Amino acid sequence: MAAQQSDQFKKVIAHCKEYGFIYQSSEIYDNLSAVYDYGPYGVELKNNIKQYWWKAMVQMHDNIVGLDAAIFMHPKTWKASGHVDAFNDPLIDNKDSQKRYRADVLIEEYMEKIEKKIDKEVAKAGKRFGDAFDEQQFRETNDRVLRNQQKFDEARDRLAKAMTDGDMEELKNMILEYEIACPESGSRNWTDVRQFNLMFSTQLGNIAGEEGKLYLRPETAQGIFVNFLNVQKTTRQKLPFGIAQIGKAFRNEIVARQFIFRMREFEQMEMQFFVAPGEEMKWYEYWKEARMKWHKALGTPDEKLRFHDHDNLAHYANAAVDIQFDFPFGFKELEGIHSRTDFDLSQHQELSGKKMQYFDPEKQESYVPYVVETSIGCDRMFLTVMSQALQEETVPDAKGKDSTRTVLKIHPALAPIKCAVMPLLKNREELTSKATEIFNDLRFAFSCQYDEKDAIGRRYRRQDAIGTPYCITVDFDTLEDNTVTIRDRDTLEQERIPIDQIEKIVREKVSMKQLLKD
Ligand code: ATP
Repeated sequence: MAAQQSDQFKKVIAHCKEYGFIYQSSEIYDNLSAVYDYGPYGVELKNNIKQYWWKAMVQMHDNIVGLDAAIFMHPKTWKASGHVDAFNDPLIDNKDSQKRYRADVLIEEYMEKIEKKIDKEVAKAGKRFGDAFDEQQFRETNDRVLRNQQKFDEARDRLAKAMTDGDMEELKNMILEYEIACPESGSRNWTDVRQFNLMFSTQLGNIAGEEGKLYLRPETAQGIFVNFLNVQKTTRQKLPFGIAQIGKAFRNEIVARQFIFRMREFEQMEMQFFVAPGEEMKWYEYWKEARMKWHKALGTPDEKLRFHDHDNLAHYANAAVDIQFDFPFGFKELEGIHSRTDFDLSQHQELSGKKMQYFDPEKQESYVPYVVETSIGCDRMFLTVMSQALQEETVPDAKGKDSTRTVLKIHPALAPIKCAVMPLLKNREELTSKATEIFNDLRFAFSCQYDEKDAIGRRYRRQDAIGTPYCITVDFDTLEDNTVTIRDRDTLEQERIPIDQIEKIVREKVSMKQLLKD
């Protein structure tokens, strides 16, 4: 299974490059690690993901408005938010390989191995007992499973406590006790664990020293917090209301692996929802459900998405859950929903000396609102869409023989190109001019491509590979009766439709309306 999964992951990465979705940054200089550029189809898909999120959050909610704050913020922002003092990862070096790791990740990987051992044991027993197998009973009574489960639980609890307490010594002890070896050198020759701040910093030109030190924002949320009253007053919103923002964030990740899953420069789509104190849990539940629905509307199967409660809460949160997706390398965080209390606004109030309070006309009192946030990485969403969409299928070729096709079954509303227009033959002027005429009209409505090169079957395959949901073919009948064939990417069915109906038919299928209604 694992091998199969990593195989799929390799295919996703290769496909992204080959078809112009994603390139490594500065490739001609042998890459800048964990930084990526989006190519012509990648930028279209990414824009569509952002648009789907923006419409679902801002357009569909009377009480959510947008914001586009700057990346640079006053340095005190990051003192107030806790990022200067607490936005750290525990780092450890292996003295033999000189490789650097996140101590918590090493322990998590150790735990994953235990989990796999348990699963293997259960699967083996399942095979042995067949239909009579009672998995729950087996898990509760089998000695080996119980022992491993105990090991797992103990490691999980110790890790959560050590992370919450910032206890670096305990992390080192765990790595030694669990006999965790460096994946590179195989040795257990470790340095001490130390905290490593994840913020990138730079320097203002006109102010020397610490005073002029600026940070690249590690999250978009703080731009929203510091503007909370500006937005509330200028839009006359009443609680509860939200502010949504899409923008770049930067983190000096120690272990940046897994393609666009963990990058040093990435994009976030965040929404902070301001509520009266005491109402945060109600809204936390509301946003949990709402965000899960947003994912499922895309057709992602239920078993590929799950909630995962945080074992250790961040310094600002009183409840936190992740929406995890079953990436080709396993279930991992795609989105976070956090109840951040009044932590951020209170901190900004204290450090700035400016009131960050809302006057509640019903209660006739002022208070610092509580915040529930939803925070999703646009790039992780991109990876989710790609890993879900990329498929290989056996389909009949033009001569009816089996052939393999690579197809991106992206939801039509997110597809980079909505429709391709093709003349059946390239060297017949009457066909190419008609097809060009149709293309030049359709491009006003949505992103289209005109393609006349190679045999029609190959052109279809090219469009399949970039996820184009519809292909329009102009043939000799078109010249007689003004109809074209429209080919469906997923069913491969071809239908004849009048030219003047193309726009309406395609528009209906690729519009975000249905997606938003779902
Ligand atoms: P992780 O535990 O994976 O490091 P996190 O809990 O630090 O993530 P948050 O601070 O909650 O992440 O950020 C919100 C979202 O931003 C995440 O759910 C993820 O989708 C995205 N994100 C965070 N860090 C990165 C990164 N380095 N590269 C790409 N996306 C990221």
